[in-house]
Amino acid sequence: MQFGIQKIISNHIDIEKRIQKACNQASRDRQDVELIAVSKRQELERVQTSLNNGLRVYGENQVQEALSRWLPIKPLYADLKLHLVGSLQSNKAADAVRLFDVIHTIDREKIAKTISSEMKKQNKRLECFIQINTGYEEQKSGIDPSQALAFADMCSHDYDIPILGFMCIPPVNEDASPHFGYLKKLASAAGLKCLSMGMSSDFEDAIRLGATHIRIGSAIFGERTR
Ligand SMILES: *Cc1c(COP(=O)(O)O)cnc(C)c1O
Repeated sequence: MQFGIQKIISNHIDIEKRIQKACNQASRDRQDVELIAVSKRQELERVQTSLNNGLRVYGENQVQEALSRWLPIKPLYADLKLHLVGSLQSNKAADAVRLFDVIHTIDREKIAKTISSEMKKQNKRLECFIQINTGYEEQKSGIDPSQALAFADMCSHDYDIPILGFMCIPPVNEDASPHFGYLKKLASAAGLKCLSMGMSSDFEDAIRLGATHIRIGSAIFGERTR
């Protein structure tokens, strides 16, 4: 158990160094890159260790799992921020708006509409990303790149959702860099400043290509246990 705790602390230090180095190489400020620790399917003890070690920004991909984990913890840390990085079902939208601070996965009009009305109902505005299917993968959620600008415009103007930027999950077994470059291009064309891209295996490339939010799970917490 002690080893596990040490390991998470040293992983975090190592990731911090690598983020800083990637920022230096890209002449970017460290503070312009937000580290989201993706705690999905990790044992609570590991998450608690990272909280004790000062991490405050977490990502989850399932509303139900996130609720049962974070509802008891959230009131204890005033500066805690929770990001939803997994795809969202309409029937979970109310819970998602209640729990999360940022949603990365607005990926269809129905969800935009539901999130918009929930935000009004709860009088809470969450910053959001639109997920873009940069690899045109049939089984993957996300907006078609060709529709990205029109969809972003609709979210902002018709649904009054605060859109920070675009998010992508590149196809597995492919070099992620072209996808990151493409996402950056799309975001600039849409006049959006933020890019949620880069995971444990490719966050340095993502930083080089302009990521403002990187989502790192296993490189901090170790392999997922479930
Ligand atoms: C699980 C997950 C991550 C973290 O993945 P790692 O490879 O463990 O860093 C990042 N983003 C999303 C959307 C995920 O579902």
